Amino acid sequence: MQSISPETIFRGNDAWEKALPHITRLTKCPLILGRGKHTSSLRNKIFNDLKNQNLNVYSSNLRFDCCNEDISRVKNIILKNNHDSVIAAGGGKVLDSGKYIAECLNIPCITVPLSPSTCAGWTALSNIYTKDGQFIKDVVLKSCPKILVYDHKFIQTAPSRTLASGIADALAKWYESSITSSSINDGLVQQAIQISRVLRDQLLIDGEKAFKNQFENNTSWRNIVEACGLTAGLVGGIGGEKCRTAAAHAIHNAITQIITPNKFLHGEIVGVGILLQLRLEEMKNNNKLADQSIKQLLVLMKELNLPTTISQLGINVFENNNLEKIADFTCREKSEIHFMPFEIHKQDIVKVIANFEQQKIKI
Ligand SMILES: [Zn+2]
Repeated sequence: MQSISPETIFRGNDAWEKALPHITRLTKCPLILGRGKHTSSLRNKIFNDLKNQNLNVYSSNLRFDCCNEDISRVKNIILKNNHDSVIAAGGGKVLDSGKYIAECLNIPCITVPLSPSTCAGWTALSNIYTKDGQFIKDVVLKSCPKILVYDHKFIQTAPSRTLASGIADALAKWYESSITSSSINDGLVQQAIQISRVLRDQLLIDGEKAFKNQFENNTSWRNIVEACGLTAGLVGGIGGEKCRTAAAHAIHNAITQIITPNKFLHGEIVGVGILLQLRLEEMKNNNKLADQSIKQLLVLMKELNLPTTISQLGINVFENNNLEKIADFTCREKSEIHFMPFEIHKQDIVKVIANFEQQKIKI
């Protein structure tokens, strides 16, 4: 079974207003799930608009992350109050929690992304973390959300850093799916990879323009936020499990194991993961184009103020056994790194990261 997309999608500047009558028909007692203070005024608007439609609406916030502690607490609230849907309004962690909780309780999930940092509003997938933000596992869900509301005026209120992060995460679709899945003889998978290539091209061409002019009337901005929030999700939907993540996300997952005082966004870490994956391809697979790709990506990443080394993520890999820890987690038994078409051992990761970080320090 494969769930390709949300059942209904509303997009554009008045997506929320258009979605409102559909939401009112679907649910009578929704729980709005959110997290950050930054988005609380938007969630208040959502709350009041639903209240004005005579819905019996409540809201609850995640305390930590998309983690088991928050998931079971919110599940209990839903069961106690008999909520008949979850409206997840926030970034990736909120959307992932909402989808997972709704599926566990067999009620519909409505996703309302409040930043362009993620395609989690689209996908049938939730990533589960510890309450400190360490990656544990991803869970494939039975279906994509019932309704996705991608309202541009909501997305526009997000900090510009979330757009840069969304661009890096969406870029990973091409670099990861093309290396893991190009030999799969399945038309839909091949088409998904081609969409991810077009997506990458659009991000490379228009990403900087969108980042530097984050306004609804800027065509580049509109196209890029939809590329990050919608097209990236579509690639996952069409490609399914076979259109897999690879080293970039495996390295992201490993980096999250090191707890740092400043939290970085998912895509900010994935971006560094893409660069490291390309170095691995160069070293282990003799990929002559990898260095070109790195140079091309570095130009864009610098313009978007994205971190380009692990040290810029606040981690010195040469301290506290951090390099060993990252290599161990990257190469653990169930890691996505093993979807790469060549064998990768812990020592390869140690070597690639050590070289990479030393090179950067010299620059
Ligand atoms: Zn990702």
